[in-house]
Amino acid sequence: MVFTGTIHLRTRGDTDIHDITDAVAQIVAQSGMSDGIVCIFSPSSTSGITTLEYESGAIADLKRTFEELVPQDREYRHNLRWGDGNGHSHVRAALLGPSVSLPLIEGRLRLGTWQQIIFVDFDNRPRHRELVVQIVGR
Ligand code: ZN
Repeated sequence: MVFTGTIHLRTRGDTDIHDITDAVAQIVAQSGMSDGIVCIFSPSSTSGITTLEYESGAIADLKRTFEELVPQDREYRHNLRWGDGNGHSHVRAALLGPSVSLPLIEGRLRLGTWQQIIFVDFDNRPRHRELVVQIVGR
């Protein structure tokens, strides 16, 4: 069986990091399913999804790492072409990836104790985001 849910988020942009673990768990509960694969996907080219220990130190470290790897104040050909100033957002999103898949076992997401699911908005302005959560299993 397949169940599909949606998560709505308002974000500030600029590598804004949200813990979406509870929202995903709510959709799993709604589905009534106990075992399978849960895929969380962001249909966007300036955001990404992964897991992290959601605490202020790790959040700051991840933000700094993205600024070091893909600085905002570099010249991006995307910006020269489109003038929207978010060339760094697209590159960061591509590196992080738009989705994560997690095992659902006996009705619970099989996450580690200190592992939360995070959504990261890299765009250079506030956005309204709609994430897709699709569960395949039984
Ligand atoms: Zn753009």
